[in-house]
Amino acid sequence: MRAKRSKKYRKLMHQYELTFGFREAYQVLVDSNFLQQVHNFKMDLLPALERTVQGKVKPLLTKCSLAAITAAQPINPKTGKPFRPYHLPPPTILPLRHCSHNPESEPIDEVDCLLSLLSPNAEVKKNKEHYILATADPAVKKSDNNNDNQQRKRKRDEEREEEQALRRARNLRVRARSIPGVPIIYVKRSVMVLEPMSTPSENVREGVERDKFRVGLPEPQPKPDEAAEGAAKKKIPGLKKAKGPNPLSMKKPKKRAAESGPAKTPKNSDATQASKANVAGDQPDGEEGGAPKTKRRRRHHKSGPREENEDGAPSTEAGQAMEVDA
Ligand SMILES: [Zn+2]
Repeated sequence: MRAKRSKKYRKLMHQYELTFGFREAYQVLVDSNFLQQVHNFKMDLLPALERTVQGKVKPLLTKCSLAAITAAQPINPKTGKPFRPYHLPPPTILPLRHCSHNPESEPIDEVDCLLSLLSPNAEVKKNKEHYILATADPAVKKSDNNNDNQQRKRKRDEEREEEQALRRARNLRVRARSIPGVPIIYVKRSVMVLEPMSTPSENVREGVERDKFRVGLPEPQPKPDEAAEGAAKKKIPGLKKAKGPNPLSMKKPKKRAAESGPAKTPKNSDATQASKANVAGDQPDGEEGGAPKTKRRRRHHKSGPREENEDGAPSTEAGQAMEVDA
C-alpha cells in the first residue's frame, strides 16, 4: 500500500516537473494548521514531507503564518510575550519566508498571505515560484462534557469558532486548487496526503501533452474525421457479414448445378463419373481423394461422420464441391 502510494506520488511530482517546471528541493509553504497536526500526530516534519513528495524539500513559514501561530498562544506572565508553541519547529528546520504585503510589513490574514504567494497576480493565476502548499484542517479541541450553563455557552462559542476555522481551511484549499500548478499536501487522519492534480492544473497539463502530440503529428485535425470514416467502413463489413451466410448456402446450388449438368467442363464430368463410381460402392479406389473429402464433411457435420462414410454419397458430394471450388 505504502509502496503503491509513493509510486503514485513520485509520478505526480514528475508531472508537476514536466508541466510546471518544479525542481528539487521543492519549496513548501506550511501553514499553522499543518504544523499543529504534524505535532498532534507526532510526525517528523522534514522526513514526512520528503516521503510525501518523494524528493528533497525546503519548508517555509510565512511571517503571517507565524503571526497567526503566536496570536493563538497564551501569554507568558513572566515575559509578557506568547509562549513558544510546541508545534513550531526551530528556524533551522523551518526558516521564515519574508512576505511584505504592505509598507509597514504588518502581518495580514494567513490565508490571504499564502494565496498571494502562490499566485502574486490575482488576474493571471500562476504559481511562478513553484510553491507546494502544505495545509490541514484545524485540530478539533476536545471539550469536556460539563452541563454547567456557562460551560455550555462557551462550548457553543468554541464550536462556532472551530466551524469558522474549518471553513477557512477548506476555503484555502479550494482557492489554491483554482491556481494551476499548486501541489497540495494535507494531513488527513494522521496520514500526509498529496492531492491529485486539480482540474485547472490538469487542463494545463493536457494542453502541454496536446502540444507535444502536435509536434509529432503533422495533421491532427483530420483524425476525428478519419475515425468517423473508419466507423462507417466498419459498418460495410457488417453488411458483408450479413451476406456472409449466403455464399455458404450458395455452395449447394453449385453442387446441384454440377450434378444436374454433368458436361460443364471435361474435368467436372470426370469428377461426377468418379463420384458415381464411389456411389456404386467402390470405396477403396476412392480413398485417395476420399480422405480429404471425408475430413471436409466432418467439419460441417461433427455429429455424424460415420453415417456419411456408410452412405458414401454425401462424401462424394463434398468432394465435388471441393473440386468446383478449386
Ligand atoms: Zn504574509
